[in-house]
Amino acid sequence: MSEKRIAMVTGANKGIGLEIVRQLAAGGFQVFLSARNELKGKKAAAEVRGDVSFLQMDVADDESILNAAREYGNLNERLDVLINNAGIYIDADAGILAVSRDRLMETFQTNAFGAIRVTQAFLPFLKKSREACVINLSSGYGEIGGLTSEVPSYCLSKLTLNGATIMLHQALRSSGISVYAMSPGWVRTDMGGQNAERSVEQGADTAVWLATKGSKEQSGRYFRDRKIHAW
Ligand code: NAP
Repeated sequence: MSEKRIAMVTGANKGIGLEIVRQLAAGGFQVFLSARNELKGKKAAAEVRGDVSFLQMDVADDESILNAAREYGNLNERLDVLINNAGIYIDADAGILAVSRDRLMETFQTNAFGAIRVTQAFLPFLKKSREACVINLSSGYGEIGGLTSEVPSYCLSKLTLNGATIMLHQALRSSGISVYAMSPGWVRTDMGGQNAERSVEQGADTAVWLATKGSKEQSGRYFRDRKIHAW
């Protein structure tokens, strides 16, 4: 009997993250749905069909990340797929000429530093997988050609996440762990709003495809619609 692949998705109580959990669980994965809010996370996990467990984790808080890794280690030795999905978009009123240090910090803590720290904390489990990967939910706003002065903290945080993807790929290549960044497109969620072009199913597609079909040769690259795309 082949063993079940194990995935964890951060910030997965709603939106694209929840849909990724749904699709992976439907595809036979054992999935850890991680969320910062215990009530929302447990409720979401209970509503998804399949092998889904809740893991509490605030990706902006190192203590919470370490606690989550400890708890995970009590349940599993191995993690095959880590999806850094948690994100915030709080640039409503201040462009690059006015954005505060606090807002830059707040966005970076979740969107960029969170992904780096979660990857570090779960590395011992990823190293025990025969074929592990890390998938970072980036954005067109993080592309060099997508930088927009009205959305400074979000754009810069995703640009940094793209940089972190390249560096994590370099650092983990010898361990056989693949690292990808991907853009879901503009998706109808609380973040994307109801006028967005894509459904959550479409937004989750490339992440789920990378989780199931990604290859080592494609590690360190950025994807849109299942294809390698320029940073
Ligand atoms: P969403 O509906 O707003 O969901 C964001 C999720 O992240 C929520 O579950 C939220 O939890 C969680 N989160 C925020 N801060 C967190 C923290 N510190 N620790 C743990 N979880 C945290 O957004 P979405 O549209 O699904 O976005 C998912 C990812 O796709 C994000 O990385 C986003 O930047 C990226 N993306 C989205 C779009 C789009 O059009 N929607 C486009 C490009 C990229 P709470 O419920 O507790 O707030």
